[in-house]
Amino acid sequence: MDDCIFCKIAAGAIPASILYDDGAVLAFRDINPEAPVHVLLIPHRHIATLNDLEAADAALIGQLFLVARRVAAELGVAESGYRTVINCNRDAGQLVFHVHMHLLAGRELGWPPG
Ligand code: 5GP
Ligand code: ZN
Repeated sequence: MDDCIFCKIAAGAIPASILYDDGAVLAFRDINPEAPVHVLLIPHRHIATLNDLEAADAALIGQLFLVARRVAAELGVAESGYRTVINCNRDAGQLVFHVHMHLLAGRELGWPPG
């Protein structure tokens, strides 16, 4: 997708602080962190929202969680705790329409979210 910021990051056309990349899933630091640890995990392939997932994407989405687990361990927050969030569409506050999982950690996170 030509105008998608996360496709550009996945293609290396826009710089990002990359923590993990296996060619299918990419993890990089959020540019505007909401917690001491705020990482975004995306599929390389453009999928706009969770609503656009298909059954064939099951392994890809599973890989997002496995990479979240790995990054949390590498950043030392696996035991203290972390949250994974995928916002979908307007009411959830989705701003970038390329599926991404937030990994938030490093402070006590409030619940429920606003
Ligand atoms: P959303 O509200 O769509 O779930 O979250 C989008 C996230 O992407 C926000 O937390 C925002 O800070 C982050 N973001 C937007 N543009 C960029 C960018 O160019 N680089 C990085 N690293 N993060 C971005
Ligand atoms: Zn995209």
